[in-house]
Amino acid sequence: QLSVRLMKVAEHVQPGAVVADIGSDHAYLACYLLHNGSASRAVAGEIVKGPYESAKKQVREEGLEGKITVRLAPGLEAVEPEDGITAVTIAGMGGSLIASILEEGKSRLAGVERLILQPNVHAQAIRLWAVQNGWRIVAEDILKEKDKIYEILVLEPTAEEVQLDAKQLLFGPKLLQDQNDIFKEKWKREATQWKAIAERLENTEETEDIRTKKEQLLEKIALMEEV
Ligand code: SAM
Repeated sequence: QLSVRLMKVAEHVQPGAVVADIGSDHAYLACYLLHNGSASRAVAGEIVKGPYESAKKQVREEGLEGKITVRLAPGLEAVEPEDGITAVTIAGMGGSLIASILEEGKSRLAGVERLILQPNVHAQAIRLWAVQNGWRIVAEDILKEKDKIYEILVLEPTAEEVQLDAKQLLFGPKLLQDQNDIFKEKWKREATQWKAIAERLENTEETEDIRTKKEQLLEKIALMEEV
């Protein structure tokens, strides 16, 4: 049984897509997409040998060797132009890592119609990358599974200039519009943590670094309180 988190990621994959799942671990998502008909073919990319081997094994056991290619490679280097990839999924990593994978592999995103990204933390890094690289956010989801809260961002290329203000970058333009209960719970949790950190910094000797960190925290707390 696929996690609710990955099932939500799968919901955003366009029907018939050719998918590259980067950081696939067991390739559960790619296998699910093939079995459910949302993908026609897939590449599962892994940087680490162990998970790469388990992905190969899973694909073999599910009889999907003709449909899923498993590659051992860092980030988007797993993608070849001949693959004709139309959707990229990257799930279960930090937002900064996802953004750096996209940044380093941008030249391999030609022809990709959709990015479906699920950062565990720091989704802001992805929103910033999107704004700077001609991708617009077409959908965002927030969900809770086993008491953890996850965000999903769906990006599509655009020729128009994308602009997001500080609040939209931090909270997500779509999530900010909806402000559902999980969203509120996430930011209440975060604010409690920020305040605890800010208090600790109050009692720390003030260096340049500490001062910047404190200013950033206070800015986030102010944005949070506005929202
Ligand atoms: N995507 C799966 C999920 O959401 O359940 C697995 C998430 S797992 C926590 C992260 C996986 O990404 C690990 O298997 C790790 O080896 C792989 N990974 C980390 N950095 C990577 C990179 N730059 N390129 C490819 N895979 C990477």
